[in-house]
Amino acid sequence: MPHQVRIISRPIRDFDDHVRHLVEEDGYGVEREYYGITTRARADEVRRGMRTAGRHLGVSVRSYWRTCDGCELGGESCAYHVRFTAYDPARAREYMARKSKNSER
Ligand SMILES: [Zn+2]
Repeated sequence: MPHQVRIISRPIRDFDDHVRHLVEEDGYGVEREYYGITTRARADEVRRGMRTAGRHLGVSVRSYWRTCDGCELGGESCAYHVRFTAYDPARAREYMARKSKNSER
């Protein structure tokens, strides 16, 4: 069960804080969920914002959105959630290198 993040409707620069808190509090490889998103466009903005924040902070961030299947915390208009995970940048590079090696055959 991923951590739940409180509803946020603040400007996009705050994504840096979300990613920083995730790394500081949970470390790498732990998924958090951002919920209470009402539109697909905003879901995409949040997804991209998390990745951009990762670049700002020098960590690797994986993020994706999914449709809300009815949560108690996101409110009635909640339609999308974004899940995000931070990875150690050095390990992420290793992983990508391994992955591309494997796909070469
Ligand atoms: Zn929801």
